[in-house]
Amino acid sequence: MKIAIFEVEPHEQEVFSCLNEHHQVTFIPVPLNAQNAEEHADAEIISTFIYSRLSSQTFQKLPNLKMIATRSTGYDHIDAHWCREHGIVVSNVPEYGAHTVAEHVFALLLTISHHMYEAIIRTRRGEFTLKGLQGFDLLGKTMGIVGTGDIGLHAIRIARGFGMEVLAYDIHPQEHLAGEMGFRYVSFEELLRNSDVISLHVPANPHTTDMLSTAQFEKMKDGAVLINTSRGSVVDTQALLQALATGKVAAAGLDVLQEEPVIREEAELLRSVFQKTHNLEDLLADHILLRLRNVFITPHSAFNTKEAVGRILDTTLENIQSFIAGETRNVVIG
Ligand code: NAD
Repeated sequence: MKIAIFEVEPHEQEVFSCLNEHHQVTFIPVPLNAQNAEEHADAEIISTFIYSRLSSQTFQKLPNLKMIATRSTGYDHIDAHWCREHGIVVSNVPEYGAHTVAEHVFALLLTISHHMYEAIIRTRRGEFTLKGLQGFDLLGKTMGIVGTGDIGLHAIRIARGFGMEVLAYDIHPQEHLAGEMGFRYVSFEELLRNSDVISLHVPANPHTTDMLSTAQFEKMKDGAVLINTSRGSVVDTQALLQALATGKVAAAGLDVLQEEPVIREEAELLRSVFQKTHNLEDLLADHILLRLRNVFITPHSAFNTKEAVGRILDTTLENIQSFIAGETRNVVIG
C-alpha cells in the first residue's frame, strides 16, 4: 500500500517506520491541500492532523484513496459526504487524553485568575510591584460546563477539586454522574445566567456553530470568564469582542479560534483574501482578539503533551494496520 503521512514532525515518524517493511510510506511535514495533493496522487492511505484541507477539491486529485487516519478526535475538517459517496473509510483517535485538554482549561483559567502572564513578565523585567495583579479565588465560584463528554467530565472533576460549584448543560445529560460527581444539569440559559466561568466542550457541527453569540453573551453574569478549548466555530468572535468591550466578559482563555487555519498560515491568508474563501470580518476579529490584554490565546495546543501525542500516534498506527488487515477500527465515516 502507498501511505502518505502529512503534518508530521521528524521525531513522530519513527512510530510509523514499522509500516515500511511491507508498504511504501512517505512523510510530508506540511498539511495536505488541493495545491499539493497531485504530488501524492498514488496515495491509498493518508494520515493527517486537522490543518489539512480534506475537501472534494483535494480528494479529486487522490483517485486511489481508500482510507484516512485522522490524528484527532474531531473530524469536522473532512468532507464526510465525499468520503461516503466514494467509499473512503475515515478512522479517528476517540480517546487520547481527555484529562490533558481539561488540564489546559485550568492552565488558561489560572492564567486569568492569578494574572500569571503579566506577573511573570513583570518579574522578568525586575519589577516586583503588585499593582493591578489582584486576582480572584476559584473556590466557591460557579463553573458552567457546556458539553459533558469525555473532556467536560474531566473538567468537572478538576473544578470540584478546586471547590467550585458546577452547572452543566448537555443535549444528552448523564444524570447518574451528576449525583456521583457533585454537579447539576441545568438549561443552557440557566448556565449562562449563573456561571462565573463558562468552559466549552461541545463538538463543532451545524448545531453548535455560534452557540455563544450576542443573545447568549447578554444573558451572562457581568464579568464572566470564558474558556474555549473546543472549536473556534462555537463562539461568534465578533459578539465576543463586543462582550469584552462592554465588560460583560471580563477575560477569555482560548485555545481555538474561528479562522484558526488562516491565522496560522500566511500563505493560506493570502489565498483566502483573493479567493474570499474565509470570512474576512471574523479573521479581523481574531486578529483583534490576539492583541487584547484580557484575552489569552494558545495555539490549539491543549492536547499537546508527550503522553497524549504518544497515544495519538499509537492509535493511528493501529487504525492503519487494522484497515490493511481488513479489520477496521475507530471508524467514524464509511
Ligand atoms: P465528546 O464527544 O466526548 O463530548 C461532547 C459532548 O457534547 C457530548 O456529551 C455531547 O452530548 C455534547 N453535545 C453535542 N452537541 C451539543 C449541543 N448542541 N449542546 C450541548 N451539548 C452537546 O467530546 P470530547 O472528547 O469531550 O471533546 C469535545 C470537543 O473538544 C471535541 O469535539 C473537539 O472539538 C475538542 N477538542 C479540542 C482539543 C484541543 O486540543 N483543543 C483536543 C481534543 C478535542
